[in-house]
Amino acid sequence: MKQFQFEYKEQEMFLQELSNFREQCDSGNMNVSMFQIFTEVLDWDVIHKVCEGIEEVFPEVPYMGCSTSGNIVDCRLSYNITVVCTMFELPSTQVKIFQYDLTQSSVEQITETIVAETKQYPWVKAIEMFFTIPETSTTRFCDGLRWIRRDIQIFGGVACSDDITSDASCVFSKANGVSEKSILIVFYGGENFYVDSINVTGWKPLGRKFRVTKSDGSILQELDGIPAYEVYRKYLNIKNDDNFFYNTLEFPLFYEHNGTTILRTPVASNEDGSIQMTSDMDIGSVVRISYGDPGTIIESIRHDSRRIAEFVPDLLRIYSCAARRTFWTSKEPTYEIYPFQEIAPSCGFFSHGEFLRTNGNLNQHNVTLVIAAMREGEKKDSGVPVVPAETDSLSRVPLVSRLATFISVTSLELEEMNKQLALVNEKLRIAAIVDGLTGLYNRAEIQSQIVKALDKVEKEKFSLVMLDIDDFKQVNDTFGHQEGDNVLMALSGLLQNKGSVYMQSVSAGRWGGEEFMMLLQNTDMSSAAYIADLIRQCFANIHFPSARPQTISLGVTQAQEEDTLDSLCTRVDMALYKAKKEGKNRVVAI
Ligand code: GH3
Ligand code: MG
Ligand code: MG
Repeated sequence: MKQFQFEYKEQEMFLQELSNFREQCDSGNMNVSMFQIFTEVLDWDVIHKVCEGIEEVFPEVPYMGCSTSGNIVDCRLSYNITVVCTMFELPSTQVKIFQYDLTQSSVEQITETIVAETKQYPWVKAIEMFFTIPETSTTRFCDGLRWIRRDIQIFGGVACSDDITSDASCVFSKANGVSEKSILIVFYGGENFYVDSINVTGWKPLGRKFRVTKSDGSILQELDGIPAYEVYRKYLNIKNDDNFFYNTLEFPLFYEHNGTTILRTPVASNEDGSIQMTSDMDIGSVVRISYGDPGTIIESIRHDSRRIAEFVPDLLRIYSCAARRTFWTSKEPTYEIYPFQEIAPSCGFFSHGEFLRTNGNLNQHNVTLVIAAMREGEKKDSGVPVVPAETDSLSRVPLVSRLATFISVTSLELEEMNKQLALVNEKLRIAAIVDGLTGLYNRAEIQSQIVKALDKVEKEKFSLVMLDIDDFKQVNDTFGHQEGDNVLMALSGLLQNKGSVYMQSVSAGRWGGEEFMMLLQNTDMSSAAYIADLIRQCFANIHFPSARPQTISLGVTQAQEEDTLDSLCTRVDMALYKAKKEGKNRVVAI
């Protein structure tokens, strides 16, 4: 593969350069495979002229292009209208360009067509795509392409213009002309075509995690239940004004999606405190504010550039977010991609969003650098130096980066401590209301529930059942305290059997020793007596290893409007006393 590039300044000069190039190609028996036009100038007349020039001199060659926020050739910012020519050297390598009009077909129809095209052309190994700035999120489009064969790589970018806050953009191709609402797709492949692609952010998470609690497509409404804008105001003191977009550029959100961490940039803040993001943000997903740390960015790029160098590509395609261009204000805008310069010729542009397929899922990224490496034939021993990883980075870490690490670690530690504290609080709360041996409510808790039930007894009737194990002292004396405990726990198990329909509205507590109290909501005395007798029978059927079956006596009463806690408990106690007196192992209701 080879690459040649032209700067388009003026038609006549361009035609002359193209004609000279044509002669060279013809005499050297070289075939031009495609032209790509990257233009920061969003003037359709100018674009048409460039296209006409190519059609005049290379009528047989397909071409395509898009508007950009800066053109990249060989890892440098290139002229504002740049024409790149790609040549494949092996006859087996193929390229095919498609353009789909978003005003003519739905996203679903387009993705279905693309999936079908990949089946029709089994040689496809990579898809490069260019999108005009979409009116809605590209998530549906990305999801629609998941049916494409998993081994096909997909990469590309969203067209842009020199004003990154503007929605104006266009794509164009030989087949379909210029359009402000279209998708351009380029198929690359063939037996001896190889491709690899990566994405690098280098951005670092900063501070605590938030959960998306309310969102509507790409409108992020709430994080952890508070208006999303409040997060930017509270933690970064960014005002809800005209500069919101520029001020938040350095602090996009890390967003977990499809098992991949991607970045999402706020575009504008709304009056209701919601934030317009560059793409969809699903409810329930976890986000963190991130920040651009020059040291980390350069380190990540150096690291990932080694993988690309080891691939020994013939050509590179570079799609870098326009936000990154803004980020490196004090440096040359392509400063961060210098490590790729030595590896292979490259072309690409600053975009409004970057596409990359990872693990079968296509994602639209933001603030990201996507690099695709292409090669014809087996790896050549090109002697391309593998860029070494930085080793002496420690001494160079700037203060701001250390502070950001400090903030991140501290907030994650706090988050962990809060979680532990919440757990301890929950355990304490339970310990305060539950009896240690039986797991039933303790006396104070069941008393408090009875008081609450009395407060609304005129609207909601309830009954009490008091239980006492018969001759329990003997169990302890004969079989030991441990067996006594086993009998207590067996009875407790019966009392909290929420699987039984009879027990669903029952609250049971340990009143003391071997005495228990049941509170039965919405239950009158006769139903309570019926349930009490069921419990008595069940208990009498439990066979203990040493103590064999045991029995219980039960007192039942229904709460009256004039009852107090005292009067009610005295009455149920009297009922129980009566049951004992009448011979135990029975239910008495009064
Ligand atoms: P009655 O049929 O009249 O109720 O006779 P009883 O023996 O069950 O009644 P009594 O009040 O004489 O004895 C209650 C016994 O319960 C005395 C006490 O040692 C025992 N007990 C109280 N709490 C526990 C406990 O947590 N575990 C065990 N194993 N025994 C307990
Ligand atoms: Mg007792
Ligand atoms: Mg007893």
